[in-house]
Amino acid sequence: MDPISAVLERVLEEVRPLDAGEVANYIPQLATADPDQLALAVVGPRGRVRSVGDDRVQFTIQSISKPFVLALALEERGLDAVLDHVGAEPSGEPFNAISLEDITGRPVNPMVNAGAIATTSLIEGTDVDDRTGRIVATLSAFAGRSLWIDESVYASESATGDRNRALAHLLRSHGIFEGPVDDTVESYFRQCSVLVSVRDLAVMSATLAFGGVNPVTGARVVSETSARHVLSVMSSCGMYDFSGEWLLRVGVPAKSGVSGGLLAVAPSQFGVAAFSPRLDEHGNSVRASAVVRTLSESFGMHLLDTH
Ligand code: GLU
Repeated sequence: MDPISAVLERVLEEVRPLDAGEVANYIPQLATADPDQLALAVVGPRGRVRSVGDDRVQFTIQSISKPFVLALALEERGLDAVLDHVGAEPSGEPFNAISLEDITGRPVNPMVNAGAIATTSLIEGTDVDDRTGRIVATLSAFAGRSLWIDESVYASESATGDRNRALAHLLRSHGIFEGPVDDTVESYFRQCSVLVSVRDLAVMSATLAFGGVNPVTGARVVSETSARHVLSVMSSCGMYDFSGEWLLRVGVPAKSGVSGGLLAVAPSQFGVAAFSPRLDEHGNSVRASAVVRTLSESFGMHLLDTH
């Protein structure tokens, strides 16, 4: 085993005993995940992927799709047009909160569901398949391989997604988007149901870390400016209602999802991803958070470190 993989293995064994938290069950299909799964992957500037643990297990991307769809919206519309529809302020509220600004009705940021649905509505597309196709193509370009949707998770999400539909109707009542509500929400459910492994997430993270260029394929996926905008929003809003404390304690732009994935970015250095399904009270994976925190402390990853 190479020295870096040995370090990753050590970090994984350090956090393995943590067994607090619960697997998400509000989307019935997610409740079937094996709670003991644990994986970690890192991708450096030359695109070498190193991974340990259950690194081939696939799970649905869920909220980790949000920063990448934001990147696509920024590419298609530009920052000002995006900000006309969704804000950039941490909400301090849970991911599914009805968190809209009083006067404008804009969702507070693109990382909560209301804001992510508004972001998805900005993506060009004549219908659900067309819009979803563009989104999946972008997620695939970030990951450096063709990604697919888990149809059973999608069906489960669509069957139980009334709160997200309600949020979308509320947004439409404020004129935040004009398109058909149902189409937009189905595209959002489909983007959340894209299957990834921890290795895919680490490559996606590295693509943000290296200014929008995928270090594995060498392809430019988004502009350096869009990558920076996304990292800024992740820094302040990526970890649900723990985002402020995460920045304080761990200090890296990150995004978590309810199936237990966590992606963290060390700008210009490497992309990291961890996976373990048990979640804490904020909806962040207990062990994936511990993994990233340990790496940040061991390798001085805090953005505001002065040495
Ligand atoms: N598809 C999930 C939802 O909208 C995403 C939640 C998440 O990962 O935070 O409820």
